[in-house]
Amino acid sequence: MLLEVKGLEVRYGGIRAVKGIDLAVDTGELVCLIGANGAGKSSTLRAICGLNPARAGSVRYAGLDVASVPVYELPRKGLVMVPEGRGIFPQLTVEENLAMGAFACADADVPRDIERQYGTFPRLKERRTQTAGTLSGGEQQMLAIARALMARPKLLLLDEPSMGLAPLLVAKIFEIVREIAAQGVTILLVEQNARLALEIAGRGYVMESGAITLADEAANLLADPKVREAYLGEGAG
Ligand code: ATP
Repeated sequence: MLLEVKGLEVRYGGIRAVKGIDLAVDTGELVCLIGANGAGKSSTLRAICGLNPARAGSVRYAGLDVASVPVYELPRKGLVMVPEGRGIFPQLTVEENLAMGAFACADADVPRDIERQYGTFPRLKERRTQTAGTLSGGEQQMLAIARALMARPKLLLLDEPSMGLAPLLVAKIFEIVREIAAQGVTILLVEQNARLALEIAGRGYVMESGAITLADEAANLLADPKVREAYLGEGAG
């Protein structure tokens, strides 16, 4: 397993946001973690990449105990997150943002890697000299993903890439995520848009109130009456 989470617990003061969950992602997989607002999905992702301390349990990534590695070292080891809200540099141009993404990559060939991203994201190529703050929400999300790919991740953690985007752009972003996975990047995708996430993922986990309540092949989850009723907007029966 590339990622193995066991008994992970995250607390904020007295709140147990993540209540001892198990989760695993194998090399080459696209796995999604779905659940309602506040279920603990972002807290889980942040704990996986060392941004939230685990109160209990363990996170192993590529054989490393994440707690024993300084947070800034993890991207250099291929563990890269695209946070909710994107975190791009608004005053820098598209191209400068991409170049910044390569800082964590020891053997980066920046011009070549940027051209590679422009191949996946032609829209960013058109906007290469524009400052990132002037891009549309969808373009900013593309830039955040492209910048993360500049670090040549082995495991890409995506936190709600569809958030705040119009339906057409959401579809585009999911298409890109699928394409990146097809290129061989292992992905753990956190999404409230359960249907689209399950349509592109191989496996999925359902999170409710800090616990994993279901874990299965994505196709089985899509067909599960409980999932259909609670997350896919379909009535029972
Ligand atoms: P969202 O889709 O809103 O990001 P989520 O499933 O990712 O939801 P989390 O953001 O992980 O859920 O939040 C889980 C719980 O922890 C919620 O009850 C939330 O209010 C709480 N929480 C999250 N971050 C903090 C924080 N920094 N301080 C205190 N409580 C927090």
